[in-house]
Amino acid sequence: MSNNTQIIHSIPVDPLTGSISTPIYQTATFVQEAPGINKGYDYARSNNPTRAVLEKLVSGLENGYASFAFATGLAAIDAVLKLLSTGDEIIAVDDIYGGAFRLFTHIYEKFGIRVHYVDTTRAENIIDFVNEKTKLIWLETPTNPTLKISDIRTISKIAASCNAWLVVDNTFASPLIQKPLVLGADIVIHSGTKYLGGHSDLVAGLVIVKDETLADKIKFIQNASGGILGPQDCWLLIRGIETLALRVPKQCSNAFRIASFLEVQPEVAKVYYPGLSSHKNHAIATQQQGHLYGGVLSFSLATDTLEAATLFVSSTKLFKLAESLGGVKSLICQPALMTHKSIPQEKRIASGVRDSLIRLSCGIEEADDLIVDLQSTFAHLQQLKQAVATQ
Ligand SMILES: *Cc1c(COP(=O)(O)O)cnc(C)c1O
Repeated sequence: MSNNTQIIHSIPVDPLTGSISTPIYQTATFVQEAPGINKGYDYARSNNPTRAVLEKLVSGLENGYASFAFATGLAAIDAVLKLLSTGDEIIAVDDIYGGAFRLFTHIYEKFGIRVHYVDTTRAENIIDFVNEKTKLIWLETPTNPTLKISDIRTISKIAASCNAWLVVDNTFASPLIQKPLVLGADIVIHSGTKYLGGHSDLVAGLVIVKDETLADKIKFIQNASGGILGPQDCWLLIRGIETLALRVPKQCSNAFRIASFLEVQPEVAKVYYPGLSSHKNHAIATQQQGHLYGGVLSFSLATDTLEAATLFVSSTKLFKLAESLGGVKSLICQPALMTHKSIPQEKRIASGVRDSLIRLSCGIEEADDLIVDLQSTFAHLQQLKQAVATQ
């Protein structure tokens, strides 16, 4: 079955009423026939029928055994970290999402969990850090904002050989173009805020697991810690996912067109996009992402200053200046002053986030219109430069 058909028909008609749209079960508790005798639901933290539809839909999309919906992507990441105990170690991709870095460093290291940050774009780099305490290997691929690619299949073999779980944050790819569980991962994370929701109108997170053992553990953590997604947002996320298979290919083709346009601009120093043959791990991306390379790309300017990038991101008309990604509206941001502001300059630049780096999240507008917007911005900057020079 195609992704489109699978998605649409994984959303069941309501068995009680025939409602074609999933009902929002806005309730805290469920009446029981006798103590402990119920219809499969007792209390809304533990389970909710609207959430159950979403969780089944997402586990189908990721070829998982089960999935669990959380209040945000970070709440989902937090639930996975609670699989660990004091003394355990994590090997994580070095340019991990800033919020995950903050959670690892400022919350979990305090409880005696050690994290090694490694350049996972070369799988063999991981081996040096493996020991008997290694519990998780944590990947993002592609990464934010320089779109680094790691080889999920090869790294899953390393994880299996040291009895660690491989976690893949699949937010940037979306399940439409990459299915880490099929490639050997044990756990997949999503910020549902991004492509799954797709309309920049909610925050949500998901954990998808490969088997019953992990499902039981995450279910226990979800119920014990309670960071669940409420029924209204579950409904909105189901509604967003219905069009995932229409949105994502359009976003990918827009990003590809724009990356190719940027690559030949004299004012651009470097373009980061896994779809370009100039990308270091283009071949791995092609293999594991099914010839779709995502809707996010970034580029640095020939004038590598914070000011030049600030001027650029403040001048586009269609690309709106905002954090986040994956929505139908195109967004632009300057990581050095926005998403990556809390990282010390030297460390930030070493990880590839230069002062002039600009990240684009392509929406579903027409590529030609988006390119005109960027062209006008380059022209506007050129005029300003000339005006300054003749002053
Ligand atoms: C946004 C994001 C998160 C965090 O998700 P929230 O929904 O904002 O909590 C985690 N990982 C990646 C890769 C993200 O882009």
